[in-house]
Amino acid sequence: MANLDNKVILTVAPTGAWPTKNETPFVPLQPKEIADEIYACWKAGASIAHIHVRDDEDKSSMNFDKFVETVNLIRATDCDIVINLTTSGQLGLEDEARYRHLIELKPDIASYDCGSMNWQHTSVFENSPRFLEKLGNVMQECNVKPEIEIFDAGMISNAVYYLKKGILKAPLHFQFVLGAAGGMDATVENLVFLKSLLPENCTWGALGIGKGHLPIMYTALALGGHVRVGMEDNIFYSKGVLAKSNVEFVERTKRIVNEMGKEIATPAEAREILNIQK
Ligand code: ZN
Repeated sequence: MANLDNKVILTVAPTGAWPTKNETPFVPLQPKEIADEIYACWKAGASIAHIHVRDDEDKSSMNFDKFVETVNLIRATDCDIVINLTTSGQLGLEDEARYRHLIELKPDIASYDCGSMNWQHTSVFENSPRFLEKLGNVMQECNVKPEIEIFDAGMISNAVYYLKKGILKAPLHFQFVLGAAGGMDATVENLVFLKSLLPENCTWGALGIGKGHLPIMYTALALGGHVRVGMEDNIFYSKGVLAKSNVEFVERTKRIVNEMGKEIATPAEAREILNIQK
């Protein structure tokens, strides 16, 4: 077995719920565009694809058919990238609309947003106790690994509670999402603090939104965490310069990781690190 201590899992999140073609013409929004972009990111070395879909008008969506089409396009190729599907692509939905695609597609991973918060000062990002219990149980039944997204410190305590209740199973995997308006800011100090709250025997990664993107990536790498890049979090390669493709972020991250004396995990290695058995 390869030594995995030196491996960094690189997730690419090419689409997200937010950017439109107005903000950046380079964001992939429809299934074929998303699948092609993920294929190119996989060729460039990405370990995991975190996938959102849009409706026919390119608006943020949990459209079941779009998820099926996108994932099937990826699976029809030789690409073995780890598939991570969002459960939070659209606010205000019924519970079932947020996990129906998991039952159908049985991805390796799906997001598990471990608490509610005010979202961008305009709405509520609701993840009620009822929903989190249902979602955790569905994910166990479908053998989908939860990626526990943490926007604020108390959400870690929620995860530990659901672990004790059996709704989540060890080893847990956390994703710190920093810099969303309504959640914790994307600062080095916040990431160091959050890491100190983690339970034992878990894995974790982090991302910073917008200008927090690079500081959080460097901090996560220094602290031994995994990383995420992509237009869901940040559309600029550098100040005022749009990334022309998510591949640019993947390639840059690979260079940074290599310069630190580490390597990007292959999808197979990522599955091993995250204890994903498919
Ligand atoms: Zn997402």
